[in-house]
Amino acid sequence: MQEIKETILIVDDAPTNIDILIDLLSDYDIVVALDGSSALEIACEGNPDLILLDIMMPNIDGYEVCRRLKNMNHTKDIPIIFISAKTDEDSIERAYELGGMDYITKPFKARELTARVKTQIKLKNLLRNLNYIAYYDYLTEVYNRRSFFELANKMFDEEKDNLYTVMIDIDEFKKINDTYGHPTGDKVLKVVAQTIKKSLLRNDIFARIGGEEFAILLHCNSNEEIIQKNELIRQSIENLEVDTDEKIIIKLTISSGVSEVNSDIDTLDSLLKRADSALYEAKSNGRNRVVFRA
Ligand SMILES: [Mg+2]
Repeated sequence: MQEIKETILIVDDAPTNIDILIDLLSDYDIVVALDGSSALEIACEGNPDLILLDIMMPNIDGYEVCRRLKNMNHTKDIPIIFISAKTDEDSIERAYELGGMDYITKPFKARELTARVKTQIKLKNLLRNLNYIAYYDYLTEVYNRRSFFELANKMFDEEKDNLYTVMIDIDEFKKINDTYGHPTGDKVLKVVAQTIKKSLLRNDIFARIGGEEFAILLHCNSNEEIIQKNELIRQSIENLEVDTDEKIIIKLTISSGVSEVNSDIDTLDSLLKRADSALYEAKSNGRNRVVFRA
């Protein structure tokens, strides 16, 4: 298996400095920028894992590059190590105040520099993993309950027009666990989650909010369209075949409750409750169906 290398953006107006760093950091993929504005462009587009940033450059200097990167949502978490010939305390302090993670003075010691780079890359990976654990459900690889409520509350406050929620429950899931064991149950959860996700758009918020329960918050053009969409999801689950550890093929179904924001609904919670009662109706009417409650 090919190892995925981290990408480091090196920013320096002196090509000779860049050449030295490229030699030292041969374990990483390197991209370079010779001035501040191309550094900003590359950082925005390429999303590097780390930036080594010179301070003294014509036009936009390193401090300004750092300040702008820290002000943009998609670049603010990229760690920055300043590398500069400036050794006075004011310059160093300013670099940290602007959000730099480390400061290396020129001329630098080669092995010390690579060790400090390695440390920042390790920290960055650790943070990424922690973030994943905080926001995603490890089993199904979709958002977890906490993310759902955080993102859904935001979407609910931003745009209520044509906003719908869907509560989905895997029918007789307990029976699957009891009959075929938990590894098969886990596999079912994952397959169902991933199948539902394929039918959704990128901005739709989809999460596993409980044991075998999933929720979606999404915008849709009409009641007909949301019902149709959920009917297709229901069919795609009905068509699945999951094999157990003993190679027995099992079939699954889901029940869904759908509701729309209207004038009596003023909180996300009341919207979810309505979808939940529609789901309850789908279950009591025989499962494997979509119930819409306006
Ligand atoms: Mg310079």
